[in-house]
Amino acid sequence: AVAAEIARWSGPGRTADGHDVAILANVQDGASARAATDHPVTGVGLFRTELAFLDRASEPTVDEQTTLYREVIEAFADTPDPAKIVIRTLDAGSDKPLAFVDAGVEANPALGVRGLRVATAHPALLEHQLDAIATAAVQAGATPWVMAPMVATAAEARAFAAQVRDRGLVAGVMIEVPSAALLAPAILAEVDFVSIGTNDLTQYTMAADRMSADLATLTDPWQPAVLTLIERVAAAGAAAGKPVGVCGEAAADPLLACVLVGMGVTSLSSAPAAAAAVGAALGRVTLAACRAAADAVLATADPADARAAATAALQS
Ligand code: PEP
Ligand code: MG
Repeated sequence: AVAAEIARWSGPGRTADGHDVAILANVQDGASARAATDHPVTGVGLFRTELAFLDRASEPTVDEQTTLYREVIEAFADTPDPAKIVIRTLDAGSDKPLAFVDAGVEANPALGVRGLRVATAHPALLEHQLDAIATAAVQAGATPWVMAPMVATAAEARAFAAQVRDRGLVAGVMIEVPSAALLAPAILAEVDFVSIGTNDLTQYTMAADRMSADLATLTDPWQPAVLTLIERVAAAGAAAGKPVGVCGEAAADPLLACVLVGMGVTSLSSAPAAAAAVGAALGRVTLAACRAAADAVLATADPADARAAATAALQS
């Protein structure tokens, strides 16, 4: 019965009692953005721009980049409301090296010059990318949201937001480093929105490589330490009146999605194939039950207990 319900589900994200939650797609180029519109998503919650450039030996020109960003924005041009499109600036380095970004030799690339840190060494890369996004936005008549990966401090968020707002765009940062989660109120004061990257937030909170199959027990977003940080960020967003998304694969887990909504997360973005199951799960529960599930998981100290507590709270 649940499988049939998921197969039929095509609505916007909404709990049984009418609390709206945006369900969005993670994409990597125009083709994947167009393919995402076959799923019940209302926009793009994470455009991983670095993935579009993995095969490039040199930096794409601003014109080439403009065409790419416009393609993704325009993939959702036919939706009834202006679609939310969140573009992430280059997250080069570590598990996503780019040939045209010289990272040098690093002993610990995951803790090295990756994400926004690259812009310190190569400021023109970020300037060019923001110029291209701004031009694409004007051409498409849209206002994309732009966010930086791997932000660790409020000062980084402030500097990035200034560059984005100078170009008339909406500025945000990813929360995927524990320091950013712990300082969420200060970071939220600098930006218009945040989006929690649970893949890296889990890796860095648990000190466990996200690429290691041997460490899967640790790289589990149900780890209560990770859930505790997510709850702090969501609460800080609610207090600031600013959107808090989740764009890691945690957002693809229907049970965890209900917990995240209960914590106050306002949008969920993941591989588009997960959207129907997440939407169907939200449609079966009330916001009060989601809040009870959030409270229940925060009282646990073990991922299995957290899952059981969430299941029990959502069934009652
Ligand atoms: C994350 O870290 O959760 C995230 C969404 O970014 P990426 O997986 O691209 O590092
Ligand atoms: Mg990440």
